[in-house]
Amino acid sequence: FVGYYDGEFVELGARSVPIEERGHQFGDGVYEVVRVYGGRPFLLDWHLERMENSLKAIAIENPFDREGWIQLIGEAIRRSGEAEATVYWQVTRGIAPRNHVFPSAKSVVSLTVRPLAVSGSSAHEAHTAVGEPGPAQTADTAPQASLPPLIALPDERWANAYVKSINLLPNVIAKEIAHRYHAQEAMLVKNGSITECSGSNVWFVRGGELWTAPTNRFILPGITRRFVRQLAKDAGVPVHEEALHLDELQDVEEVFVTSTTQEIQLIGSIVTPVDKETALYNLPADLPSSLVSIGETLKTL
Ligand code: PLP
Repeated sequence: FVGYYDGEFVELGARSVPIEERGHQFGDGVYEVVRVYGGRPFLLDWHLERMENSLKAIAIENPFDREGWIQLIGEAIRRSGEAEATVYWQVTRGIAPRNHVFPSAKSVVSLTVRPLAVSGSSAHEAHTAVGEPGPAQTADTAPQASLPPLIALPDERWANAYVKSINLLPNVIAKEIAHRYHAQEAMLVKNGSITECSGSNVWFVRGGELWTAPTNRFILPGITRRFVRQLAKDAGVPVHEEALHLDELQDVEEVFVTSTTQEIQLIGSIVTPVDKETALYNLPADLPSSLVSIGETLKTL
């Protein structure tokens, strides 16, 4: 696969990041992930538009114009020879002696093209293929039993989640908890309302209409979310950009998450730890190996 760092294509591992790179020391940068289908980057313009907004929000100089980005990403995909892949790139505030104050350094781009380990909409297939247990199976839930669950956790991110920042610690921790509970994602809850997931946007179907959190500073405006919103509009399905409260999940008919890599992933159930704070900060040493065995501590909605 292909790597690119600060102006040149490199073998991955052949080039090290300078110690005083601000992405490395401060997490001072933004990123994007684009899916390549059949050798072509999907919705690249929308990703570039969002990256421009992220860069502007935190005053990092954009090193290329739109055409420059299209050329760079196209060249990287071409060099990789991959038809099904993801392109990851980040732009950081550059290399300078460590000091919180912005330096006058030029921004630095790193990029990778990685072939996809699993194909297409197979997050769910991968989930079941590795033999991980799904949500508790009862006669009532049987039709959805093989669909992965979400686990609700507090949204502890900063108040500018619309910036696709490389600072992902709260997302990483939430996703790790989700992973340990065999959940597809951590569904993040702020003041009782559902914002999004640790690496995706979340959608609810009620009465045949769609609900997802509003486009504001508290969520990442997902490109897949934007695409689904457009598909819904074309199909005449009303979309309500309103955050649902945890208490409003009872009458939800379907749940799905959207992201560039998870695509549109149906969800089978949502679990809420009784004590969310404990779930986040005092991870039990012995994590349960299946959701079924932790019915005592988790409530399945
Ligand atoms: N929300 C968060 C926090 C994310 O990290 C992501 C993707 O990484 C998304 C939503 C989905 O965005 P997109 O559809 O652009 O991949």
